[in-house]
Amino acid sequence: MTISLKNSKITKKNSLENLLTIGRYFRSKFGETIYKVPVSISGFTCPNIDGTVAKGGCSFCENDSFSPNLQEKKPKFKLHPSNPLNPYLQEQLKQLELQFNATRQRLENKFGTKKYIVYFQSFTNTYAPIETLKALYTKALSFENVIGLSIGTRTDCMSDEILDFIESLSKDKEIWVEYGIQSFYDETLEEINRGDSASNMREWISKTKQRGLNVCGHLIYGLPNETQEMMLETLKQTIELNVDSIKFHPLYVVKNTLLTAKYLNGKFEPISEELYIDTVVKSIKILPRNISIQRITAGIDDNTLLAPLWCKNKHQQIQKIKKALVKEGLRY
Ligand code: SF4
Repeated sequence: MTISLKNSKITKKNSLENLLTIGRYFRSKFGETIYKVPVSISGFTCPNIDGTVAKGGCSFCENDSFSPNLQEKKPKFKLHPSNPLNPYLQEQLKQLELQFNATRQRLENKFGTKKYIVYFQSFTNTYAPIETLKALYTKALSFENVIGLSIGTRTDCMSDEILDFIESLSKDKEIWVEYGIQSFYDETLEEINRGDSASNMREWISKTKQRGLNVCGHLIYGLPNETQEMMLETLKQTIELNVDSIKFHPLYVVKNTLLTAKYLNGKFEPISEELYIDTVVKSIKILPRNISIQRITAGIDDNTLLAPLWCKNKHQQIQKIKKALVKEGLRY
């Protein structure tokens, strides 16, 4: 569901137009601040990691294929939609509860928060047997003060059966499906080892919207061989699919990924900070005002980051983007 400017509390103050951030959207809809609580459940993987459609995962993704530490900590067992056996379900349910309670407590102590959305964030959170998904989603919604779910996934891991279930949950809960789109150019998707196609993304985003579910599209700017025109074209196509919310993310290179070698061999040049900021500002200017914005950038402040180094400081980037938006009369 989207909230139109007419019905929301979005106002112009000091001649700046307040953009519909997801925080403002939730406050407008629920009358209070809603916090997303990210959870990461062991056993989940992706079809382009486990060999179903590809191996190694997306070229920028640091996953089990490259990280022996991660493999040691997590059970070797990986979920697969076609295998109904899940010996780790009870462990996963416990993990879900522990992670949720730990973060909720922290948020409550720091901000006095009261209402939450459980955000299934890591890997592909619909890539599992349906009974596992039902158990995890139902458990998450049973926690006190949880008003909904946000489910991060890929369009090639959605099915009518899963949509049936989450649509039933959406009758009285706030349910979001967050699709990694990244780009609508098939040549880019191939280059980054995505294992999915633009036509499949269009099909499943449309199907999800037809169920009345909230959809957030995740875009990456700075993908190999993409010009600003291509990035903005991907955004336009995402808008045409009637999504409810957008996340913008710069592509950065971290160690132990498929992209690492390309970068080190001079075969990949990261996007500059100037081009990234300019593209995000141009994007926000063409974004219909009823589409909320969940993220304008991302960064990683540890020694796994190889390039670009401006991605080290996310807060600095946010300030720069906010400043650039102010010049356009917009307040993020
Ligand atoms: S879909 Fe996400 S988790 Fe899976 S390989 Fe790509 S980036 Fe990594």
